[in-house]
Amino acid sequence: DAALDLIAEVPDFPGPGVLFRDLSPLFSDGAGFAAVTDGLAATLAPEAELVAGVEARGFLLAAAVGYSRGLGVVLVRKPGKLPAVAGRVDYALEYGTASVELPAGVVRAGQRIAVLDDVLATGGTAAAVGELLEDAGATVTGVSVVLELAALGGRAALGGRSVHALRSV
Ligand code: 5GP
Repeated sequence: DAALDLIAEVPDFPGPGVLFRDLSPLFSDGAGFAAVTDGLAATLAPEAELVAGVEARGFLLAAAVGYSRGLGVVLVRKPGKLPAVAGRVDYALEYGTASVELPAGVVRAGQRIAVLDDVLATGGTAAAVGELLEDAGATVTGVSVVLELAALGGRAALGGRSVHALRSV
């Protein structure tokens, strides 16, 4: 979709040598945001019962796609934000570690959940989110993103998971 051409490339962010993909211009364009929402909604498995959004840009996408598909959303959060936590997964970054947390009382055992985020890079975040949801007894139906940075190997890091990207570069 030509709307994806609105994604901007920002050299040396957040550090030297990193080419950051900025989806802000895409999200702020009405037709672009609609195209992304419709495109991602079409990637959801028919059996998905709930949409998980990864903080923070994944929240935006999960909200829009959940609404469009008539599904609820669960927000997968960075640590320290939730009053009651059902589970937490720590994972390694290039420098340091990060964590994702799941709110208590939301995900049911056996529930089928689609994961949404803006960008798939190394796959570390999506892998941690998948583990978090499965620890809670849910089944991950797939991981859908707007943009996949294929050279970073996210798909391989996600093993056999079903990965959908509206654009892969
Ligand atoms: P990964 O864990 O796959 O290496 O990185 C993916 C996570 O980091 C996603 O939550 C995504 O929002 C963020 N991320 C990594 N690289 C980029 C990028 O170039 N642009 C944007 N917008 N997010 C990125």
